[in-house]
Amino acid sequence: MVNKISFLVLFFYVAFAQSQESNVYRATKETVTNLEHTKLKVSFNFENSTMDGEAWITASPHFYATDKIILDAKSFKVYEVKVNNSVAGFSNTENKLIIDLGRQFTKSESYEVYVKYTAQPEKVTQQGSAAIKDAKGLYFIDPKEEDPNKPTQIWTQGETESSSCWFPTIDAPSQKTSQEIYMTVPSKFMTLSNGTLISEKENEDGTRTDYWKMDQKHAPYLFFMGVGEFSEIKETWNGKEVNYLVEKEYESVANDIFGKTPQMLDFYSKITGIPYPWDKYSQVVMRDYVSGAMENTTAVIHAEDAQQTKGQLVDKNNWENTIAHELFHHWFGDLVTAESWSNLTVNESFATYGEYLWLEHAYGKEIADEHLYKTMNVYFSSGSEALDLVRFNYPHREKMFDAVSYHKGSIILHMLRRYVGDAAFFASLNVYLTDNKYGSAEAHQLRLAFEKVTGKDLNWFFNQWYFGNGHIQLKVDYDYNTLNKTVTVTIKQEDKVFQFPLTIDVYTKKGKERNDVWIQDKEHSFTYSYSELPKLIQVGARRDLLAKITVKKSVDNYIFQYKHAENFVDKLEAIEFLSKKQDQKIVFNTMVAALNDANPTIQVLALNEIDLFNKYNKKSAIKKIEFLATQSKSTLVKAAAIQVLGKLTNPMYTPVFKRGLDAVSFAVIGKSLVALYRVDKDAAIEKVNSLSEKQQSDLADPLTNMYIMAQDKTKLPFISKYVLEGMFLNQDPTIQAKYGEAFMWIAESDNGEAIQIVADKFVELGTTYKKYNFDKIAINMLNRMIQIQQKSANTNKTELVRTIKLALSKLL
Ligand SMILES: [Zn+2]
Repeated sequence: MVNKISFLVLFFYVAFAQSQESNVYRATKETVTNLEHTKLKVSFNFENSTMDGEAWITASPHFYATDKIILDAKSFKVYEVKVNNSVAGFSNTENKLIIDLGRQFTKSESYEVYVKYTAQPEKVTQQGSAAIKDAKGLYFIDPKEEDPNKPTQIWTQGETESSSCWFPTIDAPSQKTSQEIYMTVPSKFMTLSNGTLISEKENEDGTRTDYWKMDQKHAPYLFFMGVGEFSEIKETWNGKEVNYLVEKEYESVANDIFGKTPQMLDFYSKITGIPYPWDKYSQVVMRDYVSGAMENTTAVIHAEDAQQTKGQLVDKNNWENTIAHELFHHWFGDLVTAESWSNLTVNESFATYGEYLWLEHAYGKEIADEHLYKTMNVYFSSGSEALDLVRFNYPHREKMFDAVSYHKGSIILHMLRRYVGDAAFFASLNVYLTDNKYGSAEAHQLRLAFEKVTGKDLNWFFNQWYFGNGHIQLKVDYDYNTLNKTVTVTIKQEDKVFQFPLTIDVYTKKGKERNDVWIQDKEHSFTYSYSELPKLIQVGARRDLLAKITVKKSVDNYIFQYKHAENFVDKLEAIEFLSKKQDQKIVFNTMVAALNDANPTIQVLALNEIDLFNKYNKKSAIKKIEFLATQSKSTLVKAAAIQVLGKLTNPMYTPVFKRGLDAVSFAVIGKSLVALYRVDKDAAIEKVNSLSEKQQSDLADPLTNMYIMAQDKTKLPFISKYVLEGMFLNQDPTIQAKYGEAFMWIAESDNGEAIQIVADKFVELGTTYKKYNFDKIAINMLNRMIQIQQKSANTNKTELVRTIKLALSKLL
């Protein structure tokens, strides 16, 4: 699964990420009965948002003989139960269905239970945590066709234990079952489920029954049903169907969004040594989805954010990593499944690392390393140092879906890969997948697979990283002995003592000398001789450790680092440091040089940070920026260059900005619009007014920027629609800050419409994302709005405070 919301907690209110431990030991659910096969016949009641179902479940005792089966069945109305075709006794509680088998069955005897029922997802209140009471498994979107802006759809979300909201099962990730589903829907709808569509039968009452079947076993939480009207784009990979289901409007760009899927199938099949093991691969985009995406076996659902326009896609396909993530789950998660939620990382760290592996393969190590750097920062800013990767004391299973299971876990895999080497790493993955296929595993199985392949004892690695917490924290000092021509590098572990390989690069005029050392103590010193004073000493030079390294470096060191050190992060870190020292000419010149960096991310950073208002001759810099604004092949670089020219407020650039408005790239259009506004307000406004509502919404960021500059109060309701997403869901700190400013502007204003929209948005997001504690953030923010209003001189403040309080009451 990919959570779009997790970033919110990570980026803004770190405090809420804390207190994620409890004293309850979360044991793996005891296996009493093994599921074997699940056959369902379902039809939907759109009027009541319920589902009528019949289930045939084949099962057998795991080891000990038993005369009953306990199924998870949440908020079901049960009408009839049979065992091997004979009517059977049963009792059901809110969440369980206990069936009397009539006699003892031994482990070699399979039996079939039949249940006729109605699933009532709206009545589900999952016990144990109020925080997930919205986890109702089966979702009806605009079922009565009341909302003209929404298509009618049905989709399911099984993870973590919500499949039992729509069919009786043993809802545990350690269970595996094959499946058949007969779905009866009004004829106009398409259906999607796991496995192969075997038949479609038109019924006399205007409905159609689709029959889906998957012979391979998978976990109950991976079951999926989707119903709706879609455009379907079909491809094949190795004779298997690969298709993308999108809303009609996005049919022409579906290939730009999902088109790399066949290449990914090739790549992941090759590196794991296991060809894609399932019948087909479908991806569907659906409305109001509760998360980012979900790896339902052969039937992946994506949130509507996946649907991007051509103008956004030429800048960057923001969904490519998610597409890779869900696909890699089909090996790690679907083929071999985490035995318990405590071991979730054997699903999520791999899916997250799958993103790195794909980027490395498709675009090279530098692009992949940029992703790794961002991944690392998500973990560092999450405030989760105290949490183990494998955790048996989580307060609720939904809390396992965090920056530790995903981000930190993927970096740990990266470190493991570096430690054992590429060949051993991928061979070990093959052993892990082969030994546990169509079954489940915990972190120990992973260790055993790596030990089997490498012959190494890896308990230390797993104890340190899987069953321990925190990360490496180093303080580095250098001591130069100019008499002996030696430098001593002292490395202190500031917090916990970890053991790990460390690379120290010593750069002199003659080049780089690489030293690989092993760290295992609180403090180490390494002495190196040199013939001339080193230009730079780079500790942790491979940039592949989960480490915070504190080291003092001079401006000269950083300039040298920018020019000579070898990793993307070296360059990024150098430019970030140097951007604050541009009053020195040599630094400014380095910034100018960085405008032509081979990496567009570095170019954009240099453009965003370059100080064109300092005392140095900036002619050559401006020449370069003009060139980039018109000629750069990267639309993101072009857009950043236009933004810089815009800040110069020089009318001679008006034609450049006007040309930018005709670009395909949203980034170029957006920055051109803001730049044009600075030199020719009327022309910019005229352009905005010519845009459709949809285009305006797609350009919300630059438009908000413009309206803030203009202090145009009439636009507050427009801004208020985007302000919370901008503050909490966007990962770009400058955009977050811009919306933070817009939020304050709305909070202080007397604009009732804008305040109402923001208050409603808080309620909506607070309720939807309660499991990520967004309700607490929303309550805090609404209280702040009340305080701001009370202090204001607004004549209608009593009324505005009442509006906000009403919203607040819905969250308390
Ligand atoms: Zn995932």
